[in-house]
Amino acid sequence: MKRRISVLTTNPSLGILTYSLPEGKAVTAGQLVSIPLGPRQILGMLWEEDVSNQIKIADNRLRPVSKIYDLPEASHCYRKFIQWVSSYYMAPLGAVLRMGIPFSPATIESREIKNYYVPKREWPKLTPLRQQALEKLSGEKGSVRELAEKAEISPAVIRALIKTGLITEQKTSLEIVLSLPDPDFNAPILSETQSKAAEILKESIAKKSFETFLLDGVTGSGKTEVYFEAIAQTLRDGKQSLILLPEIALTEPFLKRFQARFGCEPVVWHSDLSQARRRKNWQAIVTGQAKVVIGARSALFLPFKAIGLIIVDEAHETSFKQEDGVCYQARDVAVMRAKFENIPVILATATPAIESVMQVRLGNYKEIRLAERHGSAGLPTIHVINMTEQALAKGRWLAPPLVKALTNAVERHEQGLLFLNRRGYAPLTLCRHCGHRIKCPHCTAWMVEHRQLGQMICHHCGFTMPVPDKCPECQTADSLVACGPGVERIAEETALLFPEARIETITSDTLATPKQAAEFVEKMDQGAIDIIIGTQLITKGYHFPRLTVVGVVDADIGLQGGDLRASEHSFQQIAQVAGRAGRSALDGHVFIQTYEPETPVISALASGDREAFYQTELEIREITEAPPFGRYVALIISSEKQEIAEAVGHQLGQRKPEGDGIEVFGPAPAPLLQLRGRYRYRFLIQAKRNIPIQRVIHQWLSKISIPSSVRITIDVDPYSFF
Ligand SMILES: [Zn+2]
Ligand SMILES: [Zn+2]
Repeated sequence: MKRRISVLTTNPSLGILTYSLPEGKAVTAGQLVSIPLGPRQILGMLWEEDVSNQIKIADNRLRPVSKIYDLPEASHCYRKFIQWVSSYYMAPLGAVLRMGIPFSPATIESREIKNYYVPKREWPKLTPLRQQALEKLSGEKGSVRELAEKAEISPAVIRALIKTGLITEQKTSLEIVLSLPDPDFNAPILSETQSKAAEILKESIAKKSFETFLLDGVTGSGKTEVYFEAIAQTLRDGKQSLILLPEIALTEPFLKRFQARFGCEPVVWHSDLSQARRRKNWQAIVTGQAKVVIGARSALFLPFKAIGLIIVDEAHETSFKQEDGVCYQARDVAVMRAKFENIPVILATATPAIESVMQVRLGNYKEIRLAERHGSAGLPTIHVINMTEQALAKGRWLAPPLVKALTNAVERHEQGLLFLNRRGYAPLTLCRHCGHRIKCPHCTAWMVEHRQLGQMICHHCGFTMPVPDKCPECQTADSLVACGPGVERIAEETALLFPEARIETITSDTLATPKQAAEFVEKMDQGAIDIIIGTQLITKGYHFPRLTVVGVVDADIGLQGGDLRASEHSFQQIAQVAGRAGRSALDGHVFIQTYEPETPVISALASGDREAFYQTELEIREITEAPPFGRYVALIISSEKQEIAEAVGHQLGQRKPEGDGIEVFGPAPAPLLQLRGRYRYRFLIQAKRNIPIQRVIHQWLSKISIPSSVRITIDVDPYSFF
């Protein structure tokens, strides 16, 4: 009988399959293999070296493994970790592995990648479509798909242009030449507090065991310099470090900072990489050549050769929560990866998540505090503006005290920032004549006017339409009015108030790539911007020495909707944006506009009493048995047909689990009943922490057969309740 091995494929619907091993081949679990499936070859990881005893299939019914790749095998810890993620988040094993190995056998085997180059030159007369494509792509390089995406045309047009010879082929070798970060390249002089913190981290690295640190330092306290020392130590030990950042746009300024400290750039991992770059970086990570990796949350699933340290920067950020595909919280997954690898993990933040504060109290995380700002900078002064006492003209949103402070700042050649977490011009467009509100045809949501683009956009599904010139309902011309402000409207008001000022609007629409972020940072550094109007994108990580005035246009926005984390997120967001002010010798002032100055969030921000806020939040969560005291799981049933989604919800509702320590709410139509054309019904499962909730849900779902047109999304520890 031939030896049988099991292989975990990177195909979510296949999972673990059995194959035979050709005579005389030696294998180790964790090796990457290619296996035949029908006429195709697919990629997988050798999961168990010998399952001959468990699998009694006749030899002739088993196909042999096609190829065993000459790459270091993933460790036992790694496989355990993948298994844990799969069972905790109730996601297919293959889907989890795929995040760490997002390739096909052909890509893994290739030594070079075919790219195409569009030279910068004058073009002969072509069809307008081709002409436009070439102009857009001038000087660009990439695969057919990448070029097509950049030019927003079909790949067929690109292929046709390649045939004409106007786009030329270039082979990019996948050979890796990496410079090694030098731990002693430019070691900074740390303050006493920073040195103490760095020492604690270095000691932990020397111990080579699992430990979770909450590096809790006020904004501007120099957390990065501190954890850079931990990275330096890991480099000296010859191990790899991983730093997770919450936003791709933050990568570019971070790379510069890293290079200044260690003499070269780290290896990057995020979705914006070209295929060639992605393949190269992956190889460097798997073979251990990449000593420091900075990445988005998916980097957590990479099979590092010898990982020694994980850092989650801005660890409170909600963008660490993955909301589609495998739903997971990267901060929690980082801690678990460190646990399986038996290495330290550092959660760095100025405004810790409630869950992290709780773990410190339980003694599971070690807290390191940096209570003061680095250098000569003091904390900014907070001014609360009670908007009920301000008589603003219609269509005006900025109160006089804030305007005055901005005026002074601009006169002194300092910079100002207005924060409003709302993209576009106005969140709602309404007909003055009949009251009709313009709604997305695919979602239960209003269309948001983006005046600069001349379009209305649904922020949930991306559906766009031109701004109508008459009401779609009653056909009255010029009857549509914008309700409430978005950043574009605030920019308009600012331009009226400060006609001389150079104003820049920063949202995910204007700052989508690392390159755009780098350009923006450069303009700020050169003093080419006087006032920024920005969404939450601007609250993270930036350091602008001449920024002295911050205005929070509407501090009450985040508290609407009232979900579990509304207060916590509002607090974090406002504290973070406030932290952008006065980060040098210049004094910082923060103006918070609110209609409810008495709420715990605002009063904690005003008094600077963070502990009181966390205490109140924790007490509320404890009484309501909400996370982190209890556990939540959301179940979302969706279908293009409302009746079907509702019927499946009803069937599940009749069989919902009952018992001590578990309560199931629903089915209820989701607040966002329709999303991207699918109707959605929700359950919320609330359970005590000792309940094996995943098992309960598995059993529950197995009780009914679910039509193939229905999708069931399981979100363990959910952040979204829509
Ligand atoms: Zn109307
Ligand atoms: Zn929509």
